[in-house]
Amino acid sequence: MEKINQITSGKAKSLYTTNEESFLVMEFRDDTSAFDGKKTAALENKGKVNNQFNAFIMEFLATQNIDTHFVKLLSNTESLVKNLEMFPIECVVRNRATGSLCKRLGIEDGLILETPLFEFFLKDDDLGDPLINDNHIISFGWANREDLSLMQSITLKVNELLIDFFAKANLLLIDFKLEFGKQDEKIVLGDEFTPDGCRLWDKDTLTKMDKDRFRQDLGNVIETYGEVADRLGMQIKLD
Ligand code: ADP
Ligand code: UDP
Repeated sequence: MEKINQITSGKAKSLYTTNEESFLVMEFRDDTSAFDGKKTAALENKGKVNNQFNAFIMEFLATQNIDTHFVKLLSNTESLVKNLEMFPIECVVRNRATGSLCKRLGIEDGLILETPLFEFFLKDDDLGDPLINDNHIISFGWANREDLSLMQSITLKVNELLIDFFAKANLLLIDFKLEFGKQDEKIVLGDEFTPDGCRLWDKDTLTKMDKDRFRQDLGNVIETYGEVADRLGMQIKLD
């Protein structure tokens, strides 16, 4: 499938139209950002690692009957995906408290939650991606009740699947963010699942193995993503 026009260039990925309207090319760039775009950098090999990492996770989720936008890898940094009409919403689920949850509620960092905590955020960097609830989504027409309840249940299902998946690599899945869209009236998992959008801690040492290495200047960001990939048995190509 041919890459035609660039339609968006976000903080980390670019999207291109193809000769078929229902498919897009998603290119993972080396650019990285945190704190709603206030801290940015280009990290060598990030595009390659995240593209192939995302493909591996999306392919696993597809085997577990999760509908995803991922179609196939096109190159080390590009994937073919279904063209979705995205909801302006981020679906976050947490197994332990850290990050914004601790700041917001004064919770101890690392607290194990009684049950996974699901939250919606509005995808709006200018507003700092504020926390929202079902009522905001319905009242502002960002999604209907059926769609939002599906997004929530799929996110919780993905959490169950990935807790076990990462546990086999001696990793704790602390939290993550998903984005969904619609194609032909169907809710489909879009965007990405990479260490950029989740938190993974080593089970024994609680070492951070995700984008907190960039946020908190811990160093070896992409080398650590690579270690996660190795532990999961991914064969990431960097040539
Ligand atoms: P951001 O928008 O946060 O800067 P990215 O650089 O990751 O993020 O940009 C990717 C953009 O592509 C996001 O706005 C995301 O919602 C959108 N997107 C992800 N998957 C799809 C898809 N399958 N179809 C259409 N848009 C998508
Ligand atoms: N997250 C993300 N994009 C965002 C906000 C959050 O991918 O715009 C992910 C983040 O990496 C973490 C989870 O969602 O895995 C919860 O993030 P949190 O609300 O704690 O926000 P943060 O501390 O990252 O600002």
